[in-house]
Formats: sequence, C-alpha cells, structure tokens
Amino acid sequence: MCDLHEDGHPETGMSRRSLLMASALAAFTPWVAGFAVAGETSGPQNAVTPEAALARLMEGNSRYVANTPNQRDFSAGRAARAKSQHPIAAILSCADSRVAPELAFDQDPGDLFVMRVAGNVMSENLLASLEYGIKFLGTPLVMVLGHTNCGAVSAAIKVMEDDASLPGHLPALISLIKPAVTLAKKSGTDDLLSSSVIENVRLQVAKLKQSPPIVDKFYADKKIDIVGAVYDLRTGKIALTT
Ligand SMILES: [Zn+2]
Repeated sequence: MCDLHEDGHPETGMSRRSLLMASALAAFTPWVAGFAVAGETSGPQNAVTPEAALARLMEGNSRYVANTPNQRDFSAGRAARAKSQHPIAAILSCADSRVAPELAFDQDPGDLFVMRVAGNVMSENLLASLEYGIKFLGTPLVMVLGHTNCGAVSAAIKVMEDDASLPGHLPALISLIKPAVTLAKKSGTDDLLSSSVIENVRLQVAKLKQSPPIVDKFYADKKIDIVGAVYDLRTGKIALTT
C-alpha cells in the first residue's frame, strides 16, 4: 500500500488509479454483500428444477382460470420473507394493468420475481434485474409473458402500418417491438396483432437465451430454463409459446 503514496514513482499513476478503484469497490461491497447474503440463503423452497417450477405456475393458472385460487393468509410467513426471498420464477411481463402475474399464477408473495414494462421487451436494466434473480436468488425459471390485445404491440403496428407518431419516450420503447411485427407480417398471418404478440414473446426469449454474461451461461449449463407464454385477457388462461 506504501506504493500508493510514492509520488514520482513510475507506478504512482497506476497506483492512484488502483486506490480509486479500491475505494469504489469498498463503497460497492455492502451492496454486493447484501446480494450475496440473499443468494446464500436460497433454500429448498426454490431449489426445484425449471420443469417443476413451470408445472407449479401452470397448475396455479388452472386454479386462477377456474376461479378456485388457494386460500391465503398473507401475514403467514411475513417474518421469514423479511429476511430473504426464494422466487421460483422470474417473469418479464407487460405492464398492462389487466395482467397480474401473482394472481394469474396463483402464487404467494415471494414466489415470483416480476419485471414489468409495456410490451414485455428486454432492456439493460431489466436484464440486470434478471441476472440478480438468477445468480443471487437462485431462480430456476424465466418466463416472458405477453398478452392478447397488447396496446404496446398494437402501437408498434400503427406506427409501421399507418406511419403514426407517438409522444415522449414511447418511440424508443416501440422500436424494440417493431422486429416482432416485421416477423409476423412475413408469416402472412390474418391476425397481425395476435401474431405480433407471439413473435414478440419469441424474440425476447431468444434474446435472453443469448444474453451474456450470466443468463446465456446459466441457460447453456441447464441451470435455468427460459420460456415464453401469452396471457388471454378474456379467459385468464396462459398458453406457452413454442
Ligand atoms: Zn401489453
């Protein structure tokens, strides 16, 4: 460490940079440590296979569709949840108010690590959130959840078909959905909105599977699975995309 204070030494410049880096890391450490603690406490609750996690979600959706959800005591387990979380699935959902993942999958608080954005499109911050869920919380399943009659996808179609213009930051968001609309149009579909919703889910799933440095590796190592699904607003039923 004395080297750091030896002005005029050939290595002084690098040493100062090292010192700054060390300070930055020291400030960062409590945050990282907090994540690590959360990871270390991943217990048997979410230590299940991706297949088992998916089955649990789809069984929950069947209960939701049948309007026979599990009875819940929301205060039960609250003390344990205050200490750690063990979500069985990370869900990238549209922000649409009619799509409520915990309800639609009939899961408890702490079961789902939910990221929401209009059009359920991946972005850097959402990817970072997902990396946290996978690496530090031990979440075994990732699902991209689109839905029927999605306004964000519909907006992308209007922009492309009718040359509509959108205000504020919407153009940047919608631009992420346009490739899905292009794919849907190429398929010759007679229901462009429905097909675009499905293509958008597929595209986000494909992107995630190839997103370095964490998600792609966990997927390649079969530590996680990444699936797509579409929520039907009329029935509440969630269908997996292929
Ligand atoms: Zn939507």
